[in-house]
Amino acid sequence: MFIVMASPECAPIAKAGGLGDFVHGLCRELSSRGHAVELVLPKYDSLRFDRIQGLHKVYGDLWVPFYDKAIRCDVEYGEVDGIACFFIDAHGEHRFFHRGKIYGDADDPERFAFFSRAVMEFLYKSGRHPDIIHCNDWHTGLMPVLLYEIYAGLGMDRSRVCYSLHNVGHQGWTGPQVLQMNRLDAARLMVPERLRDPGNPGAVNLMKGGIVFSNFVTTVSPRYAWEIQHTEQGMGLQAVLQTHDHKFGGVLNGIDYDTWNPEVDGHLPVHFGPQTLPEKAKCTAALRARTGLADAFKPIVAVVSRLDKQKGVALIRHGIDYALAQGCQCVLLGSASSPEVDAEFSRLKHETDASPDCHLALGYDEDLAHLIYAGADMILIPSVYEPCGLTQMIAMKYGCVPIARRVGGLADTVFDANYSDRPFEERNGYVFDDYTYAGLESALGRAIGLWQRYPEYFRQLRLNGMRQDHSWNVPGQHYLDIYNHIRV
Ligand code: ADP
Repeated sequence: MFIVMASPECAPIAKAGGLGDFVHGLCRELSSRGHAVELVLPKYDSLRFDRIQGLHKVYGDLWVPFYDKAIRCDVEYGEVDGIACFFIDAHGEHRFFHRGKIYGDADDPERFAFFSRAVMEFLYKSGRHPDIIHCNDWHTGLMPVLLYEIYAGLGMDRSRVCYSLHNVGHQGWTGPQVLQMNRLDAARLMVPERLRDPGNPGAVNLMKGGIVFSNFVTTVSPRYAWEIQHTEQGMGLQAVLQTHDHKFGGVLNGIDYDTWNPEVDGHLPVHFGPQTLPEKAKCTAALRARTGLADAFKPIVAVVSRLDKQKGVALIRHGIDYALAQGCQCVLLGSASSPEVDAEFSRLKHETDASPDCHLALGYDEDLAHLIYAGADMILIPSVYEPCGLTQMIAMKYGCVPIARRVGGLADTVFDANYSDRPFEERNGYVFDDYTYAGLESALGRAIGLWQRYPEYFRQLRLNGMRQDHSWNVPGQHYLDIYNHIRV
């Protein structure tokens, strides 16, 4: 099958979160099964160019329509861990991908609407006829609209679209100018059945466009699929998703065990696995040495997260205080998404900097993230909502026990040591329901108590998590089944 993936992110060259890992993992899985997979990304000036092999220009003078003019783009090609990648380099005064970052500008809807148009124009002009175009999140939600409204009529009538929702908290709300910019018929599209936002009749909703115009829509866990159809987690898209229920489903993400496997992980001083678990203690010692924690007989409770409201910053903060009070050590690696959160955690860092039991690293640090998973005993994931969540799956592989709120993909992957109805060998962590201090303490307190009083049982929990298979093998097959279901 010929599959084109379009995305605003791909690990490790342009990663802001789990979407980057998804694209990297799924492209590699599909390629390894012999399918022709091509990934198209914006050529951000912030790409990790050192991780792209053989980058060179393959297509010049791609003129992409923009209002009644056009913007000139070049297309470059390179490989990322064996994935064939095309990069859209946009010229012109807007400097759409020359912002020193992936997201975060006021004109993000225009930037990614332009990217969507450029990908379609590239596929068309280069004579590509993919069986499947796989789009991701609101940034590429306009692609199936463009395919159906413009490019199918130009002969691209064999391609079918699979559209994956990674986070419906961000839907690409914008104004009708993105339609005019792309010479789309605003009168036809700004109606309730198409791109008009359900909550704001004046707004275009790019994610809704992707849902309506795709042949199949997925989200990243079965539980999140249910939550966004039936609870306020749908952020206004519940009815749209119910209308399109016949082409909607949840597929749990995998993780890439070439990157996330303590038996081969190049970031670690010592390797370990289920057969060699005692070696993990050497990673714990290395983590303490690197972060300045005292060498003490205490469990290490970790957080590796974007510090964002979605991730439960209030409970993260409380969890650290509580764990310290219960005689634990804490390590937090987090990048704040707003100045307020940054200020709050900078303050906390200042207060705890001298503590032998607490270390806060504010920022993004891939290398430290690996050492934390390998060295820590527990990881705290108290999300308000969590479409899939990779941290719990990564942590489990490294024998680090998750303490997680029962939402989204966390509910599909973390099974409580005491209260799950699953067989013992499937229980792998601690979960809580209520987004309250008491809720968090009910789970974290049990985990700490087990570590302190029943180390053998705690060791079994670690092993249960390490032995679970969250590779891309199973989800890779699910996506192929979906592609086969919708292809011509
Ligand atoms: P999201 O995509 O919502 O941020 P996920 O759990 O799906 O959350 O994915 C998070 C990914 O980002 C994991 O690979 C995690 O290790 C990584 N990560 C999160 N914060 C940081 C950070 N500050 N430094 C390094 N890696 C991080």
